[in-house]
Amino acid sequence: MRVALTLSLLALGAVQPPPVAAPRAAMVIRGVSLIDGTGTPARPGISIVVRESRIAAIVAAGAEPPADLVVNGEGLFAIPGLIDAHVHLSGMPWAQRTEQLARVVRGGVTTVFDMAGDVRDTSHLSRAALTGEIDSPAIEYASLMAGPAFFTDPRVIASSRGYRPGEAPWNREVTADTDLVRAIAEAKGAGAHAIKLYAALDAATVARVGTEAARQNIRLVAHATTFPAKPSDLIAAGVKLLAHTPYLVWEGSAPSDDFPKRARGDFAGVPPDGEVMTRLLQSMKDRGVALNPTLWIFAEGPAKDDLAPVRTPWMNAVTRRAQAMGVILSAGTDSMIQGGDAWPMLHRELEAEVAAGLTPMEALVSATSGAARGLGIDGSRGTLAAGQAADIVLTDADPAADIRNTRRIRVVIKDGRLVHQAQIAGGR
Ligand SMILES: [Zn+2]
Repeated sequence: MRVALTLSLLALGAVQPPPVAAPRAAMVIRGVSLIDGTGTPARPGISIVVRESRIAAIVAAGAEPPADLVVNGEGLFAIPGLIDAHVHLSGMPWAQRTEQLARVVRGGVTTVFDMAGDVRDTSHLSRAALTGEIDSPAIEYASLMAGPAFFTDPRVIASSRGYRPGEAPWNREVTADTDLVRAIAEAKGAGAHAIKLYAALDAATVARVGTEAARQNIRLVAHATTFPAKPSDLIAAGVKLLAHTPYLVWEGSAPSDDFPKRARGDFAGVPPDGEVMTRLLQSMKDRGVALNPTLWIFAEGPAKDDLAPVRTPWMNAVTRRAQAMGVILSAGTDSMIQGGDAWPMLHRELEAEVAAGLTPMEALVSATSGAARGLGIDGSRGTLAAGQAADIVLTDADPAADIRNTRRIRVVIKDGRLVHQAQIAGGR
C-alpha cells in the first residue's frame, strides 16, 4: 500500500526532465572520412568522440558533444592505429630501442606484437609504454617454445642469459618429458600474452602443448612449420596465427627436422592453387587461423636470398589466395624498423601486400582488424567503433585509393592521447 502511494505521488509530481547536455568529451575529431578497419568503404562527414582512452561514440558531424579538444578533420581520413603483428624488440640498448618505438608510433603504428626474445626486456618496454614513460605503441609479447636442437642458436642463448639455455620461463625447451603444466604456467607468469612455437617440435609434442595451452587459456602462435610438425599439425593443435607465408610450402613435403632450411622449400613442387594448398587454406579459414605473411622481408629484406625469384611469386600467390578464400590476414614485418629508414617497415609490408595482388583496403584491414583478430585483441583494438581504444591515425589522402597514403599522416592518437601532429605545410 505504502509502495503504491509513493509511486502515485511520484507519478503526480512527474514532469519532463530538463534536457541534459551531453557530457563533455575529452576530444572530438570533427568531420572526417571514416575508414573503420573492417573493410567497409570510407564514410564521409563523421565525428569521433573520445573519452579517456576510448572511443565513446561515432556520430554524424554536427551531432558531437562539446569537447576539451576539437580536431578539425575536414579533408582528412581516419583509420585505426596500425598494428604490426610480428616484431622483435629485445637485444638493443634501451635508448636506441625507445627512440625507435617513438619513431614507430609517430609513423602510425599504435600496437606491436613481439614474437619472442628476452621477455625481461620486452616487459620493461611494455610497462613504460603503458604508463606513458616512453612514446611507444602498445606492446604485447610471446614466450617461445622449441625443441632441444634450437637451443644452440646464439639468439636464444643471448635472450636467456642467466638461465641454462632452454630453462628460461620465456624461452623453454620442450620434449616428450617436459612438465607442460608448469612450463605453460611459467610462460604466463613471465607476462607473455601468447606462446610462440618455433622449431624442432613434432606433431605429438605440438598437440600436447595445444591441449595444455587451451586449458590454461593462453594463445598459441607459431612459425608456419615447426619441423617436423607441418602447418596442418599446428592448426590441429589449436595454433591461432601462422607466421611467414613461404613456410606453408612444407605442407606439401615429407616431414623434415631440418629447420634451418625453413625458407628453402619445394616451391616448384607445391602449386599455390593445387589441392594441398587449397585444403590447407580452407582449414585455416574454417578454424579461424590467421596468416602473418611477412612478405617484404623475403622479397626485399634481410631474408632475401638466391631463392627469392621462385619464392616471391609463390608466397604472393598463396597470400592472395588466402585473402580470396577468407583467411584472416595479420600483417607483420619481422623487422619493425630498419636503421636508415624513418618509417616503420609496416608501410613497406602493406605495399608488398598490394604488389602481391591485395587491394589497398584489404592490406589496410590486415594491419588493423585482421592483425587484431590474429592476436586475439580485436575486442579492444583494430577498429574504429564505440568502446574500442582511441588509437586513431588521420591522413590527408585516402589509403584505400593508394596504400602509400598510409604514410601521409597528419595526426596520431594513441589511447586517447595526441602523440603526434605533423607540421602542416601550406596551412590548413
Ligand atoms: Zn620473427
